[in-house]
Amino acid sequence: MSRSVPAGAARAELPRFPLLHGPTPLHELPGVRAALGGPERCPRILVKRDDLAGPALGGNKARKLEYVVADALARGATHLVTVGAVQSNHARMTAAAARLAGLGCVLVLTSESGSPTPEGNLLLDRLLGAEVVIVPPGPPGAADNPHEAAAVAEAMERLAARGDRPYHIPVGASMPLGVLGYVDAVAELERQLAAGGIAPARLYFAAGSRGTQAGIVLGARLHGAGWTPHGVAVSPGDPEKTGRAVALAAAAAELLGSDARIGPEDVVTHQEMIGPGYAIPTPESRAAIRLLAGADALLLDPVYTAKAMAGLLGDIRGGAIDPGETVVFLHTGGVPALFTAAAALDLT
Ligand SMILES: *Cc1c(COP(=O)(O)O)cnc(C)c1O
Repeated sequence: MSRSVPAGAARAELPRFPLLHGPTPLHELPGVRAALGGPERCPRILVKRDDLAGPALGGNKARKLEYVVADALARGATHLVTVGAVQSNHARMTAAAARLAGLGCVLVLTSESGSPTPEGNLLLDRLLGAEVVIVPPGPPGAADNPHEAAAVAEAMERLAARGDRPYHIPVGASMPLGVLGYVDAVAELERQLAAGGIAPARLYFAAGSRGTQAGIVLGARLHGAGWTPHGVAVSPGDPEKTGRAVALAAAAAELLGSDARIGPEDVVTHQEMIGPGYAIPTPESRAAIRLLAGADALLLDPVYTAKAMAGLLGDIRGGAIDPGETVVFLHTGGVPALFTAAAALDLT
């Protein structure tokens, strides 16, 4: 195991645009433990509240964008241009970060509908002053959406042609600089655990475009964490996405001047909670939303954290986790999309 570069050494030189306001809370979920049979049957569960990270209703993208926006500013950018699904949390957080950094923002969002209802994240995108370009989905089964790529190219050219300097951020800000935000998050979590005398065995989190996963796996290695990272996939695409996480971790390690090597064997991603596809609720994800709201008044989002929590609950109920263990669940945010889920949750 390589720990040749101490935390913060090389990284101190990489600028961050401040979006976070101190460490996010880490607290226990006693209600869900009781609901799952109490200490005899269920491990102690703590939640790391990255849903409270950053402005405009928060989420994991705030940590990534601290490094990415600093890079954009260092390069003299005038606009941030990024992509996502119509309810993208990353797009909403990019719009918020652009406001705070004094930059323009263009969001290319994919929607089945040409004029999607301005609710949830899309409402916030508009409120935050972003220019929103809606594109239709690509051909079924294709990895990339040609409409999205064309709209991004068009926006970049249009801005450049009038003398602006657009900065392109890939989906989920899952780029090497963004990964550093989750290396830092691990350091923050490790400090909280040490202060509380808590030694968890596992960390569960939602795995989407895999930048968060890359940062957590690399951070766990660099900081010598005593727990195992457990990603829960919210969309299909492995083993290619595991390869992406490995490549992102390698590029981020290089930015840090570290020779740490992350292999596919270090990237654990549970596959059983994906269901029919990205952003499509499952019986397990609906049940997780209801259980956490009822037991601990913790709000999960329908796209990411509901499936990740369903993965954790499934492992607890299936006996994969010893009740004597402590588990940390990383809440990565996304709650604005809950306000689009009335029908999915039978609440209409
Ligand atoms: C983007 C997102 C994730 C997934 O993070 P990746 O780095 O894309 O894997 C998880 N949860 C929420 C709420 C998100 O918005």
